Amino acid sequence: MRDFTMSVCLLFAGAVVTDRRFCVRLVGGHENDDQKQNLLRPVKDNLGLRTPGVYKIPCECGKCYIGQTGRTIMERCKKHQSCMRLYYPDKSAVAQHSLETGHKIDFSATSILDKTSGYWDLVIKEAIEIQLDGNNFNRDGVYS
Ligand SMILES: [Zn+2]
Repeated sequence: MRDFTMSVCLLFAGAVVTDRRFCVRLVGGHENDDQKQNLLRPVKDNLGLRTPGVYKIPCECGKCYIGQTGRTIMERCKKHQSCMRLYYPDKSAVAQHSLETGHKIDFSATSILDKTSGYWDLVIKEAIEIQLDGNNFNRDGVYS
């Protein structure tokens, strides 16, 4: 709640505030509290996983999968789930890990590491994230 209070103070000062929890944009004064509340939307209410980018899906074992997509991350997660359900381990490293180990993949905890849509940006940033995270089950040299 401390961050909320700080954001509201800045709201009254007519500032533009962006942090992990709130995205506030104000161009003028507002008459009532409802209008002010409407400006304080959590960031996750924005696009969420409906964006292209580099993403991370955790597994219950503590390892994770790092991937990239030029479509939306949400669509790619559904594709991974579909590969698990239809038993296509060759089409998804996530499906392969889950099907081989029996581990539960926590799709609800999928996070965005980088929002970008350019092909080479995606490929390079994914490769960097895979190297930085030493605890993943990505296939060597295969980014799918
Ligand atoms: Zn696992």
